[in-house]
Amino acid sequence: MRRHLLTLRALERPQIEALLDAAQAYADDGGRSRPALAGRPVATLFYEPSTRTEMSFELAAARLGAVVLRCDVDHSSVRKGESLVDTARTFEALGAEVLVIRHPASGAPALASRHVEASVINAGDGMHEHPTQGLLDLLTVRQIKGRLEGLRVAIVGDVLHSRVARSAAWGFTKLGARVILTGPATLLPSASPVPGAGMTSSLDEALEGADVVMTLRMQMERQAGGFVPSLAEYARGFGITDAALARARSDAILMHPGPANLGVEVSLDAAYGARSVISRQVENGVFIRMAALEWVVGRMETRRPSTVERHKALDDMAQVAG
Ligand code: ASP
Repeated sequence: MRRHLLTLRALERPQIEALLDAAQAYADDGGRSRPALAGRPVATLFYEPSTRTEMSFELAAARLGAVVLRCDVDHSSVRKGESLVDTARTFEALGAEVLVIRHPASGAPALASRHVEASVINAGDGMHEHPTQGLLDLLTVRQIKGRLEGLRVAIVGDVLHSRVARSAAWGFTKLGARVILTGPATLLPSASPVPGAGMTSSLDEALEGADVVMTLRMQMERQAGGFVPSLAEYARGFGITDAALARARSDAILMHPGPANLGVEVSLDAAYGARSVISRQVENGVFIRMAALEWVVGRMETRRPSTVERHKALDDMAQVAG
């Protein structure tokens, strides 16, 4: 079945687990190429800068044998005023079966998805969601901690403008972790964007007992100014340093979606330190995007039963045995 991947909010726990399991299977065999999308065009339309997301979608598509049609927005008809929908329809007319869209406007990929037959993957829309980032965050934590259920995840920083925070909060909460969003009061929304996720302006409270500390990039391009007195003051209050990490659990890990403003939301020592899993997040991005591409075109094999199915099978066996 052909689908779109627009938000983690819209996914059910078993769907998220199936995506994680498929990505884990790629990770297990080192991301070896397989021809699931052989010769099929996949378009990438990035209206905002990107390094990790764009490159990993391209690599994921290449590993699945797809042909990547990369829209260089600055040198395309977008510069002549072509609308998003017209550009999306043009790529579809060129044969693209998947459109991977990043856009500064929240909801832009959803809008495009209503006007094309192709599958749309949201690669980050404004302040809304970044579902493949959320999935790679879940996969990374699950690999390192062996579970998600019952973990405490502190998400720190510019929550107000962060699509990463929203997707992560939906994903972790749906998979049974406890999420606490924290940052200066001016960078927190008026209410928690995700039911079940807590919110506090006290970093200490958020770090207490945290298994995972995820720090967010200050979204300077989305801040009109005046949210913090200065970056130096922000760094003193909410920058994650080794000293701040010491307030979390002794085995807590540090995450950052990248690109990091070193010395602002995270210190260089912490970002490159033993607790940092930032490079693992990047690596997992490729496996997650392979799984996402296959999933939207309805080609994802369930190579392993999902965790839910495994538990259910065990329960069934226990009942039979009992
Ligand atoms: N790369 C992530 C995004 O595009 C995080 C960030 O830029 O802050 O949302």
